Amino acid sequence: MSDIQIVDAPPGVEGAGFFATSLDKAVGLARSYSLWPLPFATSCCGIEFMATMASHYDLSRFGAERLSFSPRQADLLMVMGTISKKMAPVLRQVYLQMAEPRWVMAVGACASSGGIFDTYSVLQGIDEVIPVDVYVPGCPPRPEAIIDGFINIQKLVQTESLRRRDSPEYQKLLSQYGIL
Ligand code: SF4
Repeated sequence: MSDIQIVDAPPGVEGAGFFATSLDKAVGLARSYSLWPLPFATSCCGIEFMATMASHYDLSRFGAERLSFSPRQADLLMVMGTISKKMAPVLRQVYLQMAEPRWVMAVGACASSGGIFDTYSVLQGIDEVIPVDVYVPGCPPRPEAIIDGFINIQKLVQTESLRRRDSPEYQKLLSQYGIL
């Protein structure tokens, strides 16, 4: 909120409340408190996510109570659990079906790096197949850690330029993953 400046009213509108900001920041603020997460939960970390959504931790306080089980109506992909190599193309397909702007959170050690499953059949981190914005450590991460990761996503959304998705850097990132 420190990016929003209170300025003196110009002559003729004294007494009217208003503030000045940029379109990027206003849209970023609105987006960050209206994220629609898609929980891609495959194993134990998903249980912690259930606790995160329940009344004690209540992720809806951050405007994210509307979970989406269709990638078409989601803008935050939360991957929780072990992702096998057979599952990897499915995860990638789900990501591709999400419209821009979209963000990705790798929740827990398995999603971030394969965790304890350093085996032939397990993907050693979802960033092998899709770009990741925020990693949440832990096996499993506690709900507080998941909320911390979510707040980091919010900060990213709030500070991201509306034009980032068209930027050469972002296009280069997608092309590295064969996504364009
Ligand atoms: Fe389960 Fe730990 Fe992997 Fe989470 S990180 S899915 S708790 S083994």
